[in-house]
Amino acid sequence: MKKIALFPGSFDPFTKGHHDIVMRGRELFDEVVIGVGQNSQKQRYFPIDTMLECIKEAFQQYDNVKIESFTGLTAAFAEKVNAKYLLRGLRNTTDFEYENSIAQINKNIYPNLETVLLITSPELAYISSTIVRDIYKYGQNVDKYLPYKLPM
Ligand code: ADP
Repeated sequence: MKKIALFPGSFDPFTKGHHDIVMRGRELFDEVVIGVGQNSQKQRYFPIDTMLECIKEAFQQYDNVKIESFTGLTAAFAEKVNAKYLLRGLRNTTDFEYENSIAQINKNIYPNLETVLLITSPELAYISSTIVRDIYKYGQNVDKYLPYKLPM
C-alpha cells in the first residue's frame, strides 16, 4: 500500500520552510499531499487560489507531491486522501507545545493517523508565515522567503 502523508497548514503564505519539509517528506513517503486549510474563523491574507497556484508551480516537477485545499477537520481530510501520516514541522519549543497537543487530539479522532514531526533545517527556522505576511503588508520584498514568485 502507498504510504501517503498529509502536510496540512494555513500556508498564508507557503514559505521556503514549508518547502523544505515537503522535500524531505517526499523522501520518506510515497506521496505527500499538501493540504491548504480554509478556516471559516480565520480570514486569509493571500487568496487561497493564488496560493494553490504558487505551490503547484513550486512542485510541478515532482510527481509524488499533490496540492489540495480543504475545510473542516484535518484528521477527516487525512482519511479522505488516504493519508496515514500527518507531516508537520518543528521550529522551536512553541511549535512543539502546539504540535504535541494537536497530535494527541488527532490521534483520538483517528487512531490510525500517525503524526510525524520533522525538525526544521536550521537555516530556515526563523521563517514564519506571520512575519513574511506582515513585512509584505508594509511593502517589503519577500521573494527570498518563498519558493516561487508571487504574481501580485
Ligand atoms: P498552521 O496554521 O496549521 O500552524 P502553518 O502554515 O503556519 O500552519 O504551518 C504548517 C506547518 O509548517 C506547521 O507544522 C509549522 O510548524 C510548520 N512550519 C512553519 N514554518 C516552518 C519553517 N520555517 N520550517 C519548518 N516548518 C515550518
